[in-house]
Amino acid sequence: MRPIKNIHGDKAPHWVGDGFYVKTLINHLDDNPHFNYSHTDPFLLFDYGKPTTFDPNPNYKTQPHGVGQHPHKGFETVTIAYEGEISHADSVGGQGIIQKGDVQWMTAGRGIMHEEFHSEAFGKRGGVFSMVQLWVNLPSAHKLTDPNYQSIKRADLPIVELIDSSNPDHQTTIGKAAIIAGAWQEITGAANTFTPINLWNIELHTEGATTLKVPNTHNTLLLVQEGELLVNGTSVSAGNLIQFDAPTQHRTDDQAQQTLATDNIELHYPATENDEQAPVKLLLLSGEPIGEPVAGYGPFVMNTQEELRQTFRDYQTGNFVK
Ligand code: MN
Repeated sequence: MRPIKNIHGDKAPHWVGDGFYVKTLINHLDDNPHFNYSHTDPFLLFDYGKPTTFDPNPNYKTQPHGVGQHPHKGFETVTIAYEGEISHADSVGGQGIIQKGDVQWMTAGRGIMHEEFHSEAFGKRGGVFSMVQLWVNLPSAHKLTDPNYQSIKRADLPIVELIDSSNPDHQTTIGKAAIIAGAWQEITGAANTFTPINLWNIELHTEGATTLKVPNTHNTLLLVQEGELLVNGTSVSAGNLIQFDAPTQHRTDDQAQQTLATDNIELHYPATENDEQAPVKLLLLSGEPIGEPVAGYGPFVMNTQEELRQTFRDYQTGNFVK
């Protein structure tokens, strides 16, 4: 079993632009000795927008809610729309709408300019909005790769049915997992990644137990988005981010092709026997640490301070994204 190291409690939300009301659950700029980038590598930033109701926006055409043109360089942004819709457009003509359940895996690489707004349809009708934006670092060998989008539709995500392991004879389905990235045993996730990463949306709706298996080389985190459950026997409720113990192994080059050993994470739903329990929604993040120095500020994440200064110079002199 991979023990829980810490449970990071609920945080105060803040606005990103005027469209995204999020809690920053991981931030590579934090200097907390017990929870900094070395504990979350390759994940740089993790913003979670819990379900929030927006009124219809009658001024959508002139004042859409969201964030206007801004740059990114040196990493990837992963946007998951749980409720509502996000429209995006970039400096090289790419555009689209991330609909409910869809995932956009954007590689900023050597640089991109883009904007992120509520979609026109959602903005005009209003309603519940909930999303994630995760920043995934790129290793130095791929930091300046070409910008790219992977637009992953909800229907393209492989689904694993979760069977109650506490009563296997009954083959009771207690929930499901959507494999955005990585691998769940033989099931491969929808996204291509530069380094080994698991990103799984998990839902539990019926009483029972199930086991997650994560490589023992990965930094591992689990967000409880909704509901309450037992994780390795500990009760955890919505808004909490679980940080598991550091990886016990580091992959070496000659292990690259081998199947890695895994650690178990035990889930039991519901947390208590009494009362009616709301379904649980979880997001598992695990990744093999890149293990390189990070020099980041604002929308840029490089390896050295000189690379970061040069990126700001390029941006200020109009030499960004040429
Ligand atoms: Mn952005």
